[in-house]
This record gives sequence, C-alpha cells and structure tokens, in this order.
Amino acid sequence: MFHAIVRVVPGSVIKVRREEKLGFLERLYVPAIAKGLRVTSRHFFRNLRGFVTGKRRTDFVVQYPEERVDYADAFRGMPVLVALESGEPRCVACGLCEFACPTDCITIVPGETETARIERHPEVFDIDMSRCMFCGLCEEACPEEAIVMSREVEIAAYRRDDMYFRKQDLLVPEALLKRRLDFLRGEYRRASEPAEAGE
Ligand code: SF4
Ligand code: SF4
Repeated sequence: MFHAIVRVVPGSVIKVRREEKLGFLERLYVPAIAKGLRVTSRHFFRNLRGFVTGKRRTDFVVQYPEERVDYADAFRGMPVLVALESGEPRCVACGLCEFACPTDCITIVPGETETARIERHPEVFDIDMSRCMFCGLCEEACPEEAIVMSREVEIAAYRRDDMYFRKQDLLVPEALLKRRLDFLRGEYRRASEPAEAGE
C-alpha cells in the first residue's frame, strides 16, 4: 500500500512511505499463488467448456504455422530494402541508416550507377540479423523510404553466418510493402500536422 505526499514543490524530493507488513503466509506467496491458480483454472474450465460445446469459446488460439496473425501495420519485423519495378533498390547509399543503427549491424558500400534516376546505389548492403533488434531506427533515418520494417519474423537459422542477409536477400518489391509504406506516410503526415497548423 502506498501513501504519498502529493503536494509537490518543484525541485523537492517526494517521500513515499511504503507499508510492507506482510503476514507469514504472504511472505510464502500463498495468497498470490492461490489467486493465480484461481484465474488460470477459471480460464481453463471456461475454455474447456467452450471447446466441448462449441459455444462461448473465449480463448484466443492461432494454429501456427497453418494460421497466421495479421499483424498491425505498426508491427516491426525484419528490416528490408524496397525494390523498384526494375528490381533495383530505391536506396541511394547515403549511409544514414548505417549511422543510425545502434547495433552496427548494417554494412553499406556505395557505388556509382549509370541509371538516370540516381547516381549512387549500394554495391553492398548487408544486415547482420543476429544483431538486429528490430528497433526501426534505420527506417526512421532513411530519407528515401528505401528501408522499411517488414512483417517477416521467421528468420531463425542454425548457423550465425546464415543470419547475414545480403542485398539480394533483403530486396522486396514495393507493392508487397504498400501497407507499411502507407502507414509510415500517415505517421509522417500526422507528425507534421501540428507544425503546419502553427504556421
Ligand atoms: S532495426 Fe534497428 S538494429 Fe535493426 S538494422 Fe535497423 S537500426 Fe539496426
Ligand atoms: S538511409 Fe535509406 S537511402 Fe540511405 S543508405 Fe540507408 S536505406 Fe539507403
């Protein structure tokens, strides 16, 4: 139970008095264990009844891998490179994602290209997925919408080397990433609205 002194003076220290007078059984976690078992049993029998009768089934079970959850658009799976219709990456090898990555798992070697759209492209673009923590900072840093967080999470491997994804492994057609790109554009729009309104 907490008793806090609520009058706050800026810069002052708030003293919080904790009353932790636990009984013998509480110190053995007996009431907490009984409470947990009660909740678990209630769900178990309710779902068992629903499973047998086919009615009022309240559990949420996905028969993975036959069934998949449709993740929310904000979900961050493995980062991938957006591929243009030509199959080339949209990336211009600016290196911002490499710089932003907190785990240093992105390796880019820029090179020149003959195409009219851009002058630079990544000759090498590798991500060491064994170090990636799916934070999405590379996606945020990218000025070209060229690297985005996909829905892919099934990237287990037996060998550490197999977690090293090369450019060709990372390229995903733009059409397949439409949901994520639309989500990001919506987020950017939302973030810029207050600034625009204040102008
Ligand atoms: S998601 Fe985070 S850790 Fe993974 S490559 Fe991007 S910035 Fe690095
Ligand atoms: S920030 Fe974007 S454009 Fe720049 S190197 Fe990374 S993926 Fe390519």
